[in-house]
Amino acid sequence: MTPRHIKISMRSLSLLASATIAVAAIFLFSAFTQSPATTATRTSAETAIDHVILISVDGLRPEAMLRPLVDQHPAMKQLTQGAWTAQARCDPDISVTLPNHIDMITARLVAGENGHGWVDNVDPPSRTMGGTLHLKPRHYISSVFDVAHDEGLQTALVVGKWKFVLFEQSYGEDAGGPDDVAPNYGKDKIDCFVCSPNSMDQVQQLTAFIQGASDRQKKTFTFLHLALPDFVGHASGWDLSDGSAYRQALLDIDASLGFILSKINNSPTLKDRVAIVLTADHGGGVPLISHRDPEAPVNFTIPFLVWTGVHQTQVDLYAINATTRHCPAANERFTANQLPPIRNSDASNTCLMLLGLPAIPGSTVNARQDLQMTSAPQK
Ligand SMILES: [Zn+2]
Repeated sequence: MTPRHIKISMRSLSLLASATIAVAAIFLFSAFTQSPATTATRTSAETAIDHVILISVDGLRPEAMLRPLVDQHPAMKQLTQGAWTAQARCDPDISVTLPNHIDMITARLVAGENGHGWVDNVDPPSRTMGGTLHLKPRHYISSVFDVAHDEGLQTALVVGKWKFVLFEQSYGEDAGGPDDVAPNYGKDKIDCFVCSPNSMDQVQQLTAFIQGASDRQKKTFTFLHLALPDFVGHASGWDLSDGSAYRQALLDIDASLGFILSKINNSPTLKDRVAIVLTADHGGGVPLISHRDPEAPVNFTIPFLVWTGVHQTQVDLYAINATTRHCPAANERFTANQLPPIRNSDASNTCLMLLGLPAIPGSTVNARQDLQMTSAPQK
């Protein structure tokens, strides 16, 4: 077989592991230019969206997007002009970072027969020592990266904590699944992996990746994890009062989100062709400098928004999904009826729907891709 994905820079996880603590930015990069530019996704004609960015802001409390705070956050204000809610939920059983991000990228919950089962929240062991998502369930756990990459999109994972190397180990060349959708784009589902604690550095690399792909007529799915609010929360609490470190972190994040929006809106080839789905892994504040308690409303209440451009009408995500989702009371992790709340695990299948792509095989949350957003562009 002729390799379509020729590495253009070294991928060495052992090298990267040794750089875990130090480092500013690690840029693993592959396959930017090898896939044919003519790749068509199966339903690409049905959507105007060519690029979707899934953003998780670690430890983001939804108050950041509500008045009065949102008035100080112009980017968040813009992002909440579409379909969104401040009453989404994290995983019902666990409110820590890594398991919730696995929920997001696999569209599964942690627990249950079809759960992904990963509860650890530390740097994973190496791939050969069990550090993949497929080992414990004893079968391959597909992710949003599988679907997007197999369909010919360029994919990137841009994160602020090293523990996310678990995704690179699970969906890289050595552990990724076969591509069952012709043409074959191979087993390495994540073309570009960046780990940097600096959010502005992250968004610069992210937007360069998307613009570069667009210049080659390639579509993209990218995942961005912004860590700062969580770092600050663990140092001095999820303090929403004026002048707090957490409030400063929100300003910093808003500036980074604003950078993304300006790059999109000022690019003739990206404007109106990029969607953003933004949520969080958890909130925080119980205990005071943590978010461990999965039963604490400040920990499990998170925002969830879908932004598809500037021509949107602000709408309550629950109001337009009344037949499939139910808004829980503010102090409830679960809903009072049979319908689920909107969770961060809804995100990936929403992203794929926006791209005109099918749901993640084996996924259990939003597997029917029935989370609606009236402001999504229609052809
Ligand atoms: Zn944390």
